[in-house]
Amino acid sequence: MLHWGKDAAGALRSVAAVVADLVVPPLCLACHRPVSSHDAICARCWSDIDFIRAPLCDRLGIPLPFDIGGTMISAAAAADPPDYERARAVARFDGVMRELVHDFKFRDRHDAHRLFGRWLAEAGAALLADADLVVPVPLARARLAIRRFNQAAMLAQEVARLTRRRYEPFALRRIKRTQSQVGLTRQQRRENVAGAFAVAGAKATLAGANVVLLDDVITTGATARACARVLKRAGAARVDVLALAMVTDPAFLAP
Ligand SMILES: [Zn+2]
Repeated sequence: MLHWGKDAAGALRSVAAVVADLVVPPLCLACHRPVSSHDAICARCWSDIDFIRAPLCDRLGIPLPFDIGGTMISAAAAADPPDYERARAVARFDGVMRELVHDFKFRDRHDAHRLFGRWLAEAGAALLADADLVVPVPLARARLAIRRFNQAAMLAQEVARLTRRRYEPFALRRIKRTQSQVGLTRQQRRENVAGAFAVAGAKATLAGANVVLLDDVITTGATARACARVLKRAGAARVDVLALAMVTDPAFLAP
């Protein structure tokens, strides 16, 4: 009887495992085809992502055509230095990466955040190594109500957890209504976010701190610049920017 009981329990457990896989089988986060593990993308989607690798411009984090050794600065960064020290992104904002970010942002597909967290921790390893705080770019309250969550905050929290850094979700807040940056030129974007951010009562925490600012996409860097300016004005020693994706199109970078 006891023997039968053990078998029954084992059978039940394996049935439960099968049912669990039937309910949530692991699917590629991008194309939704079956894959072998959760929180992953398939080999085909992986190969479509243009991961940003060295050699890079140390300031803007854009790929450079060749490595001349040492710290390299792109012509775009030299002509128009950003308010932050260094920006890094996982991949170019293109193809599958664009789809992944879009799903994450607008279609409530939050299941990708673990994979994104691992990618960000890797792409931002140098920035995070001596960071004191991880701070997300805040969403406007109206937009937060529509989307129900701030994807940058979700990413920042995951990165802070993985790298054991302090997560500071309320260091920044939006103080001005801004229109969506989509479709705006580089100059319009800067004007749109000028004066849009403020430090929200975290001045003591920011004093002398190395901050990693987290956003989903760096397009022209206008938002990151505006945030870096107020963080530094509040006493941050250094502000680096880390994002999932980055637009590396020269049209956006030319001063
Ligand atoms: Zn796929």
